[in-house]
Amino acid sequence: MSNASTICRGRFAPSPTGGLHLGSALVALIAWLSARSQSGSFVWRVEDIDGPRVVAGAVEQQMEEARWLGLDWDEGPDVGGAHAPYEQSLRSPHYEQALARLAEKRRLFPCAHSRKDLQELASAPHGTDRPPPYPKSLRPAVLDANWFEQYQTRENHDAALRFRVNDGRVTFHDAVYAEVVQNVSEEVGDFVLKRKDGVYAYQLAVVVDDLDMHITEVVRGADLLDSTARQIQLIQALTGVIPTYAHVPLLVNEAGEKLSKRDKSITISELRKAGIQPQAIVGWLAHLVGFLDRPSARTPSDLVTLFDWHRVHSDNIAVSSSVVEQIRQINA
Ligand code: GLU
Repeated sequence: MSNASTICRGRFAPSPTGGLHLGSALVALIAWLSARSQSGSFVWRVEDIDGPRVVAGAVEQQMEEARWLGLDWDEGPDVGGAHAPYEQSLRSPHYEQALARLAEKRRLFPCAHSRKDLQELASAPHGTDRPPPYPKSLRPAVLDANWFEQYQTRENHDAALRFRVNDGRVTFHDAVYAEVVQNVSEEVGDFVLKRKDGVYAYQLAVVVDDLDMHITEVVRGADLLDSTARQIQLIQALTGVIPTYAHVPLLVNEAGEKLSKRDKSITISELRKAGIQPQAIVGWLAHLVGFLDRPSARTPSDLVTLFDWHRVHSDNIAVSSSVVEQIRQINA
């Protein structure tokens, strides 16, 4: 997806809230295949800014399960790299620097309206059930020239920090969803970059990290499609290079909900405990997404030459509890 002149750098950026399930394994596999099919590098990043949601041991478990599936990465918390640290919880100075730059450009302002802040989570907003747009009338008319320095020196804050969005539509090309258009100003409004309690918002952390780590292509679940226009506005405000985007269809359960760790039987850990081989899972996922006509055992490396974004369609993929049986048959 990247320009011929740039070396592709892809990434997988899971929140460590549990082990991998089939949906997150699919995102990891596709992100890896896309990068490897372009002889690119692959980065593993830990999105652990939302402390209370982090589960002890999940970072190690996710990496171990991804390796078991046959994936690897050139940079990450366990292997290091030029852009360390790869854990968001250790990257606060980078986020503060970005906030200072935005303040300098008058694209940041303090907002004490807590009711609205509470509706917004620091974690990635999966889906479009976002709060109503932030009213422009709440933007401060004037700000002291040194308000941000003063804000930074205070220990307790009575205000969150919001990004002042630009008017107009944002249009981008997605490798799966084609042309996507959003009017951030009308649909979302000025959004939070740092909460009152000091937690950095997902939107800020993901943009700063992707820029710092020179990520050229962002591959992630389709539930984050709705965040991309916001991130593009932030990247532009930070005068960064916009990566290419690909949003991978979601795997949904019989109730039509995105697979999560609640769907216990289809976590990688449960499938593994049931004696299923990683190649059976990888081959099944590859069939599901259109790379193989029939499900058959494959390693991720076997699939590199078959990889093609044109085969990936945008509809959510429903999986029933019979998947375990289907995968078991490939295993046999
Ligand atoms: N941390 C997010 C997740 O686990 C992914 C964020 C991203 O890839 O931009 O869904």
